[in-house]
Amino acid sequence: MTMQESAAAPKTLDMVIVGAGFAGLYMLHKARAMGLSACVIEAADGVGGTWYWNRYPGARVDVESHEYSYSFSPELEQDWEWSERYAAQPELLRYLNHVADRFDLRRDVRFETRVTEATYDENAHRWTVKTDRGDAVSARFCVMATGCLSAPKKIDVPGAETFKGEVYTTGDWPRQHPDFSGKRVGIIGTGSSSVQTITEIAPEVGHLTVFQRTPNFSIPAHNGPARADVKRDWLANREANRRAEREHPIGISAAIVTDKMTLETPEQERRRMYEERWAKGGFAIGGVFMDFLVTKEANDTFVDFIAEKIRDVVKDPATAELLTPRTYPAGSKRICVDTGYFEVFNRSNVKLVDIAKAPVTVTPKGVKTGGVEHELDVLIFGLGFDAMTGALGKINIRGRGGEALKNKWDGGPRTYLGLMVSGFPNMFLVTGPGSPSVLSNMVVSIEQHIDWISACIASMGERQQDTIEATQAAEDAWVAHVNEVADMTLYPQANSWYIGANVAGKPRVFMPYVAGVGVYRQKCDEVAANGYEGFALSGLGR
Ligand code: FAD
Ligand code: NAP
Repeated sequence: MTMQESAAAPKTLDMVIVGAGFAGLYMLHKARAMGLSACVIEAADGVGGTWYWNRYPGARVDVESHEYSYSFSPELEQDWEWSERYAAQPELLRYLNHVADRFDLRRDVRFETRVTEATYDENAHRWTVKTDRGDAVSARFCVMATGCLSAPKKIDVPGAETFKGEVYTTGDWPRQHPDFSGKRVGIIGTGSSSVQTITEIAPEVGHLTVFQRTPNFSIPAHNGPARADVKRDWLANREANRRAEREHPIGISAAIVTDKMTLETPEQERRRMYEERWAKGGFAIGGVFMDFLVTKEANDTFVDFIAEKIRDVVKDPATAELLTPRTYPAGSKRICVDTGYFEVFNRSNVKLVDIAKAPVTVTPKGVKTGGVEHELDVLIFGLGFDAMTGALGKINIRGRGGEALKNKWDGGPRTYLGLMVSGFPNMFLVTGPGSPSVLSNMVVSIEQHIDWISACIASMGERQQDTIEATQAAEDAWVAHVNEVADMTLYPQANSWYIGANVAGKPRVFMPYVAGVGVYRQKCDEVAANGYEGFALSGLGR
């Protein structure tokens, strides 16, 4: 039986799920466990979401593998062996395929099918979801597991279409890795995707030119083979470890948060603490002081520490200075976790070109900036994503009275808890704007949302309720709260994709909820415990 035959979806279901990444797969598993009929519709020809599409060289997780994994099945956790401390994309994709097979999920996934429309029928209390194959599914619940970073940003570099050489984008990398040996390769972008690509391809290419508009903060991962004792200790205290993750501000139990304030800590001790966290690697450093992302003076001490680290590694002082982020607070964009990034710039075949003041134009032969044309055989774009709202924006979503989500979100996304939108009953968002989402270990946030959605639907079943919808008042109050909390931090000071600044014309609204995974979970649980406070429920039970 082919994949398409096996995945043919019934027309009328309890739940339709869009997307087969971490979120969609777990939602399907939970829906089945609740006895709901459900299907997933996925544009790709396989499961994996982020880890299906982003096959660029060096793609790797920035949270330790055992933490960036599902917690819902202790047996899965016990059986699966990660080969590296920070798993690379092929292994993450294997893991998600294993999950799909182990829980027999594939038979309810419709692959190579893109959802184009989702319309709420107020009389039937159902969603009709239409696809690019010309068919439709009708379901009581619609779960948008479409991903926060699944809609690559349009290539907005002038002349991009004129380039005569090979062109690749990090977010949609070919399955067969192209051969770059001996070639003159250029890459535009220095976000996490490019940092990983650059590090991986530098030894392989003839020459690499890195076009950098804004330097990024990057911390060494100290990657290596996964250690048996780490897994043993993790599993020995599995429940406690997973609880610690769920209550942690960013959902990473290893990133222990102290109650220390930067400027109250003597300089020598501060330095020792930074060094200790630096040696640990990854996001551990973010938890070192409570005020890291609250006061500029505190943040500046971290910036100075990183600047010194870059100078220690990069031999050419001018290049080191160019690589040092100075224009935004550390942590106000997701920090990269690298494996030898800064070291790459000591290679004789790598050149860093600053495009902050002299923007780039692509020509048929290469890239031109500041009056100089850099001739290339290969051009890579690592320009990022239309984040958090991009994938939803590509679907014509219509709620009550035919209102388009696009119109409702004209001035920026508005949700209650990042989970639901007023006027769009029975449509759930997974890690939507207004939730911690991209500021966290996303698997933790995804599981929290799916568990909450599942419990909500189960509760509706018990009370014979048909529909749930965020009230306008609750949504307004939540949006105000999300903004208020963000404004208490340094986050909004960066021109980041968190605020929509990377996409021309996108409203500048700080999208994720910064109060932390643990605090947020508590709020969601309280809302549920108080009878789904802020939601209007209707049906036979009311
Ligand atoms: P996704 O994995 O993005 O899956 C969404 C799926 O929905 C996609 O397969 C897409 O094809 C499908 N889809 C979207 N729209 C439609 C439509 N209209 N019709 C049909 N299908 C549709 N997070 C971390 O916490 N740690 C990391 O280290 C990390 N690394 C990352 C690295 C990269 C390169 C990127 C881009 C993101 C990374 N993230 C990381 C964030 C990552 O997106 C999440 O961790 C997680 O994988 C998201 O899972 P998801 O199921 O919510 O969404
Ligand atoms: P990104 O962080 O948005 O980086 C995009 C890069 O492209 C930036 O350097 C940006 O410069 C540059 N750029 C965009 N448009 C440009 C233009 N027109 N001209 C010149 N430069 C341009 O995107 P990303 O690297 O794909 O990462 C997105 C997110 O995905 C990350 O923040 C992270 O959450 C996740 N991710 C995680 C990992 C991981 O480590 N596991 C890996 C990849 C991605 P400016 O900064 O000046 O705009």
